[in-house]
Amino acid sequence: MFMDWLNKKKESIESKKSIFNNIPDGLWVKCPQCNQIIYSKDWLENYKVCIKCGFHSQLNFYERIALLTDEGSFKETDENIISFDILGFHDTKPYSQRLMEAQLETNLKEAVITGLASIEKIPVNLIVMDFRFIGGSMGSVVGEKVTRAIERSIDMKLPLISVIASGGARMQEGLISLFQMAKTSSAIARLDKEKILYICILTHPSTAGVLASFGSLGDVIIAEPGALIGFAGPRVIEQTIKQKLPAGFQKAEFVLQHGMIDAVVERKKLKSTVALLLRLLWRKK
Ligand SMILES: [Zn+2]
Repeated sequence: MFMDWLNKKKESIESKKSIFNNIPDGLWVKCPQCNQIIYSKDWLENYKVCIKCGFHSQLNFYERIALLTDEGSFKETDENIISFDILGFHDTKPYSQRLMEAQLETNLKEAVITGLASIEKIPVNLIVMDFRFIGGSMGSVVGEKVTRAIERSIDMKLPLISVIASGGARMQEGLISLFQMAKTSSAIARLDKEKILYICILTHPSTAGVLASFGSLGDVIIAEPGALIGFAGPRVIEQTIKQKLPAGFQKAEFVLQHGMIDAVVERKKLKSTVALLLRLLWRKK
């Protein structure tokens, strides 16, 4: 089914392609974790999960939509809000150039895409992050689109599902990027008040400002195996506390053991798990 989707050329959102971006030329893919050589057809049919060691490779926005939603059901919202360089920020290159390069590389306008879709015929409201776009970082536009999506869930009484893939705040927007944590969190508080179901799906990596705001405020929080989940990264923590960290620190399985999330779900069961949660926990208002 995944392969069928890949081969289709439709005018819908899916046809915006880039699905092959992460697949090297030729018929074989090497697993980055165990170095197993895998036939690329098997790799795609297994949703970019290693058949030997279970390594979950990152998926882009288009692949996420194909994995998670009913075919052809996704309708993008707020697609025309785009970032600009409000501070005239320049690190190794100007922020405006970074934005343009990210847009060209990903065929996306921002690091988050929001929209309406269905999952096993249940209507949902989606927030999907794409790590390829400046590390899935949250600036003013990501914060605005996420907040609008949350408010749309309240207005339309639709369960909200977010797929997180982020390195945190977008430093090129300075303090403005940090404001987005409070803005999105307060919107989630309103969602909670309205008793609208919110499910977070944490993928690799789910860190810093996004995890510390709307990324970890779900009624149910599930993660993909092996995903890095935490605020500061392990290296920074190790340097600060000057102690060796336990094995598997900040991995999905570790944070599950310590009660921070509700479940670790392998990719091929993600859609059916979310659908089951929707059927169990959501009653149309
Ligand atoms: Zn592997």
